[in-house]
Amino acid sequence: MATWTIQKLLNWTAEYLTNKGIDSPRLSAELLLSHALGLKRIELYTQFDRQVPQQQLDLLHGLVKRAGLHEPVAHLTGKTEFYSLELEITGDCLIPRPETELLVQRAIEFLRTRSGIQYVCDLCTGSGCIAVAIAKNIPDARVTATDISAAALAVAARNIEKHRLKEHVRLLCGDLFEPLIKQLDVNQFDLIACNPPYVSTAEYENLDKNVKDYEPESALLAGADGMDVYRRIIEKVDELLKPGAALMLEIGFAQGPAVREMLEESRSFAQIKIEKDLHDNDRIVSATKMSS
Ligand code: GLN
Repeated sequence: MATWTIQKLLNWTAEYLTNKGIDSPRLSAELLLSHALGLKRIELYTQFDRQVPQQQLDLLHGLVKRAGLHEPVAHLTGKTEFYSLELEITGDCLIPRPETELLVQRAIEFLRTRSGIQYVCDLCTGSGCIAVAIAKNIPDARVTATDISAAALAVAARNIEKHRLKEHVRLLCGDLFEPLIKQLDVNQFDLIACNPPYVSTAEYENLDKNVKDYEPESALLAGADGMDVYRRIIEKVDELLKPGAALMLEIGFAQGPAVREMLEESRSFAQIKIEKDLHDNDRIVSATKMSS
């Protein structure tokens, strides 16, 4: 019987996933293998020649088969990495995308230009990725994160606990600003960040299988033109920002001009800026609240 070393398994899995048309097949193979073997990714390479026992081979086989059918690796391993932090992920929340790290980076840079306690709001927090990454990097941040999905907030709560941020991030369940307003304890924020659902009905139909079949529709879909949530945010956001505070939104690649126009029409914002992601697509809109 052929013996399976880590090296052979990695190569075999990467090739299998390539043939199935899976994105980043080598990385996916590494993540699945390290999960099945209980090793760190680097340890796969330091233990290249190690033979893998049958029980772990069986476990891996099941995982690789599911990955080949386009089930997201983050669901198979129950975790992902975002802004160098390990986060728990389930099918109840969107899997954090690398593009969203740019929003976090800009948020952190902005908060570092300010002093004292910084009140931050993260709308549509999902797994809590933005809230956790900001709180982890800005000790003075006090983050309030909201989401309409109680199931997603349960994941966010575990991520907050995992990174020992319970004193820094609080979660509220409800639609956008609604839970804040209900609590009547909000004055105004220094930063409001949001990666809302922004996929249009037409785009939704054409999403990759790994997204459409496995990630929550409510985290993706935002009306006929994908703009529903921006409309509702921009309508209300003004009163919740301090003068000089920032609004940072993730957007779909074609939504920059329309979101800019909505911000301009609100007459509340200056320095409206649209930034591109690593694939050269418009991805982040930031704006500064003007003094009234
Ligand atoms: N960027 C995500 C996707 O392409 C969409 C994320 C969102 O709607 N916030 O699947």
